[in-house]
Amino acid sequence: MSDDCIFCMICEGKLPSSKVYESDTLYAFLDLNPVHKGHTLVIPKKHCENILDCDPAIGQDVLTAMQRIGEALKKVTGCTGINVMQNNGRSAGQMVFHLHWHIIPRFDEDGLKLWPQGKYDSMDEMNATAEKLRKELA
Ligand code: 5GP
Ligand code: ZN
Repeated sequence: MSDDCIFCMICEGKLPSSKVYESDTLYAFLDLNPVHKGHTLVIPKKHCENILDCDPAIGQDVLTAMQRIGEALKKVTGCTGINVMQNNGRSAGQMVFHLHWHIIPRFDEDGLKLWPQGKYDSMDEMNATAEKLRKELA
């Protein structure tokens, strides 16, 4: 629990939320400002800021929750696709600093556009970038 964290307060029941799912490690509730109705947030009960400081052991629980919530959203909203979005850090658009995944129902021709695609200046630049990352990860 982080004292001033609204998502900690939500999963401890100190602030109201529209809960959709709960497990030993996770809590899921509707986003107050949905991209589409049914837009759900999945959070770990144990506070951490984002994926860089979380316990990777929650990964399996998160995927299980996403599969179950995704299937439920398809049945309840009639959506034909789902985006999973997850922002890490202010520059990536994170506004609440308790790790959360957005599960967003999508519909054919719903007009939403994700990020624009860019290009490398050359294949050499692309390969050099991959090489630097490989070295860092070795
Ligand atoms: P972020 O930009 O950090 O990835 O997304 C934070 C999300 O939390 C936003 O989509 C916002 O609508 C949602 N949110 C912020 N405060 C509350 C709240 O008190 N209750 C609920 N249900 N959602 C919230
Ligand atoms: Zn928290």
